[in-house]
Amino acid sequence: MPSKPSYDPAIAGEFPTFVTHLECSYTGERFESGQLHGLSPAGKPILVRYDLEALSQAVSKDELAARPGGFWRYREFLPVREAKNVVSLGEVITPLLSLPTLAGKGGELIVKDEGRLPTGSFKARGLALAVSMAKELGVRRLAMPTNGNAGAAMAAYATRAGMETTIFCPDDTPEVNVSEIEYQGGKVYRVNGLINDCGKIVGEGKELTGWFDCSTLKEPYRIEGKKTMGLELAEQLGWDVPDVIFYPTGGGTGLIGMWKAFDELEAIGWIGSKRPKMVAVQSTGCAPIVKAYDDGEEHAPLWENAYTHASGIRVPVAVGDFLILRAVRESGGFAIAVTDEAIALSQAEVAQKEGVLLCPEGAATYAAYKQSLQDGRIKESDRAVLYNCATGLKYPMPTISRTLDKNQPIDFSAI
Ligand SMILES: *Cc1c(COP(=O)(O)O)cnc(C)c1O
Repeated sequence: MPSKPSYDPAIAGEFPTFVTHLECSYTGERFESGQLHGLSPAGKPILVRYDLEALSQAVSKDELAARPGGFWRYREFLPVREAKNVVSLGEVITPLLSLPTLAGKGGELIVKDEGRLPTGSFKARGLALAVSMAKELGVRRLAMPTNGNAGAAMAAYATRAGMETTIFCPDDTPEVNVSEIEYQGGKVYRVNGLINDCGKIVGEGKELTGWFDCSTLKEPYRIEGKKTMGLELAEQLGWDVPDVIFYPTGGGTGLIGMWKAFDELEAIGWIGSKRPKMVAVQSTGCAPIVKAYDDGEEHAPLWENAYTHASGIRVPVAVGDFLILRAVRESGGFAIAVTDEAIALSQAEVAQKEGVLLCPEGAATYAAYKQSLQDGRIKESDRAVLYNCATGLKYPMPTISRTLDKNQPIDFSAI
């Protein structure tokens, strides 16, 4: 299929790349770029490394400021070599919404609303990059396990690129996710298990089927897409970072990606050495990272009988566990679990007091903010950023039964 012409000047034209090599995040073993990679031989995620010196010569903050929106504006920080391989669905810069009535005294509470991205979640960032790189490297068939949003994003971007996708999700994945995956050209199977069981199926089938495994952190590029959350946030704050970031943590791609972004920005002198406290937010029904953090462990063993309504963070085991824990600890942050009840109350509170409809996972970050204030783990005066990872419109809301009969006299004083 010929690639579609691009109407976005940020996407057209040259894509100078500054990738030098890839690297195992655990052992440091180096690999050549320009080839397909999954996990490293050590079974750990592979990270992309850049010639940051050359990168900083090639683009300035001012040049960047003049470019159109969307994360492709950060192309020098991304691995795609040729503009024709960029697969785009019209990404936008996601807004920062302040929640003044809910902020601590003298502080700032800001939602980064990722629900505005294509397919309605921040999974678009990671999958746009993974699919674009898969296209560049000649992949035709992709597969992944998903709790919903990642599958939807992969199906949409891959279909746009003319690739096939096979997707496995837990059988209680939100209906809307299952439908959007299939409707956007993916082939989706409901599996009577959790996301790690789905991941096992992809692993077992990939030899025979020729699938490229796009599981969280099992290929090097989704994290580069999620890295743009850190670049974008810093740019929006005038090349500064907030005091604390609350991130709803499943596989942890976004938290690890933002941490990488801040390191790269400091290396080129665009931000200083200040880092936000990175806070990994999970549900009490599935909190492997919180347990490992509390226990002082480097890795987080599988969480048995994982349960939470916030399906995006129902991830019993994460291949990047040590990277999440490292970022959290190095940043002076922490990991915190909130109950499903607190999540539901928080979602209602933000919707009703600020008119901002969070998804359950986004609401978990507000619940965690309140709990952390109470515990004294953060300060009232902190500038805190909450990640709302998906549009609240994808999730069930309370049904409303109030009616009015137009054929009867209306008592307006009672309305
Ligand atoms: C994927 C997802 C998360 C978790 O993101 P990770 O970066 O994989 O930890 C949280 N919330 C929603 C809605 C998601 O789709």
